[in-house]
Amino acid sequence: MIRLSKTSKLDGILSWSLQALETCPGSIAKNGDLVPACKGCYATTGNYNYPNVKAPRLENRDDWQRAEWVSEMVAALSNSRYFRWFDSGDLYSVDLAAKVYAVMVATPWVSHWLPTRMHKFKKFTNILHKMQSLPNVAVRYSSDSITGETVQGSTTSTIFSNEAQLPSNATVCRAYENEGKCSGCRACYDKNVAVIAYKAHGVKMAKVIRIAAMV
Ligand code: SF4
Repeated sequence: MIRLSKTSKLDGILSWSLQALETCPGSIAKNGDLVPACKGCYATTGNYNYPNVKAPRLENRDDWQRAEWVSEMVAALSNSRYFRWFDSGDLYSVDLAAKVYAVMVATPWVSHWLPTRMHKFKKFTNILHKMQSLPNVAVRYSSDSITGETVQGSTTSTIFSNEAQLPSNATVCRAYENEGKCSGCRACYDKNVAVIAYKAHGVKMAKVIRIAAMV
């Protein structure tokens, strides 16, 4: 069964998600710690701990492996114009990536936004490039930084905590000025927007920034 999530932050745009961290191999640094951006992950706190929020994310890990999953996802997106992959979790498997690509190809009427850290792993290079070559897809490579550093890629994102850290070519996410909601902005889905900079927010992220400033 296809289980999509709808979050008020995204103006009601649907997303398909997995459990955070356990499907995020890119969240682990070489020393075994979480990378800075993932230490403050919103998807490990608050509402994301409620059983009714966790259950679909856990079930989706098995569900995508069904033979009918691609055709059912395409049908589920028949009325969508925008779609967000991985409100939580990541594209942890090359086989899953191949199926997500098939959904993207079969839904040209949908603008897909797929944020990911899987660009760190060579075996994903080919499939991520194929996704990015589709006119209706923005694969956005996430930086591990919480101080505005960026990664290579045509569409990327980073986190910053003060304006001095902003990359010169960044488009700042203004959701924090609109009660945390996109409020009509669709920059993340737009292939022509090179870098999105998200202002660090939340109690957990504030703590990460304080600790980072001390070391
Ligand atoms: S940049 Fe725009 S589309 Fe992306 S999360 Fe922020 S408000 Fe939403």
